[in-house]
Amino acid sequence: MSILVVGSFALDTVETPRERAEDVVGGSATYFSAAAAFFSPVRAVGVVGRDFPLEGIKFLEERGVDLSGLEVADGLSFRWAGRYHANMADRDTLHTDLNVFESFEPKLPEGFLETPAVFLANIAPALQMRVLDQMKKPRFSALDTMNYWIDGERDALLEVMRRVDLLIVNDTEAVQLTEEPNVVRAARRLTELGPRAAVVKKGEHGALLCHGKRLFGIPAYPLEEVRDPTGAGDTFAGGLLGYVASQGHVDDTVLRRGLVYGTVVASFCVEAFGVQRLAALTRDEIDERYREMANFVVFPESEQASA
Ligand code: AMP
Repeated sequence: MSILVVGSFALDTVETPRERAEDVVGGSATYFSAAAAFFSPVRAVGVVGRDFPLEGIKFLEERGVDLSGLEVADGLSFRWAGRYHANMADRDTLHTDLNVFESFEPKLPEGFLETPAVFLANIAPALQMRVLDQMKKPRFSALDTMNYWIDGERDALLEVMRRVDLLIVNDTEAVQLTEEPNVVRAARRLTELGPRAAVVKKGEHGALLCHGKRLFGIPAYPLEEVRDPTGAGDTFAGGLLGYVASQGHVDDTVLRRGLVYGTVVASFCVEAFGVQRLAALTRDEIDERYREMANFVVFPESEQASA
């Protein structure tokens, strides 16, 4: 089934200990769409300014992403700048310029209203709610957020969380949201706040899924070099939800496989700056790394346990 994403299209300035890139195409909706479109038809909604280099997201259209919900507004595009620490995991946000995003009011094109699956990328909870309100009973909905909204818009966030099926957050956000310092207990607690499933991303340490009473964990793909971690979280969500939407139903097996696809596509994302690697990626490469992951995590009792 198709999946709708509402989120940012951005120009990012990224500094790592060894490199720097200025005004590269990024944004949560960009990364999400680039990954999800390998699995399901994607419809994207967002806004850019007149300065946005639209040729930088042409590869999304070539991958089948419907960008008819992308508004080009007068003014400058959303800009974000971040600096990574030596561990290439922690980062400081240097600045966030909302620009055209500030007055963004997501308006779904008529043809998008009945999209069966939706991913509410990291935007203000009130906007996420207005997207859900416009949609006609999506069969599956998922939500991402960040510390900024957990601190500033907690009540609105808790309200929108009650209306979605799956929450995807990182470990720090899970702890902050639940006030539970243990990540496993935090993941369980999240599923008591509304969504029936929660995924907690732990960067290079992988991801944890809590679905009802069941837990599932997957390590990150073992990479020897990370060049730019920006967008890994949104790419992970794109692989996971694109796969889930392609299956037409959600159960434990589908979610577990989705977690592996999300992990695999995110591992490609961080190999180059911005969306460069994702733009050149093929489905065959994804499938090959998926098989490698199966081999990487298997141990003698795995098959008996799943029998
Ligand atoms: P990630 O590394 O997965 O957390 O995603 C990074 C992407 O999120 C970058 O491309 C940024 O442009 C985008 N981003 C950062 N802050 C925000 C924000 N406040 N709202 C929307 N998108 C953001």
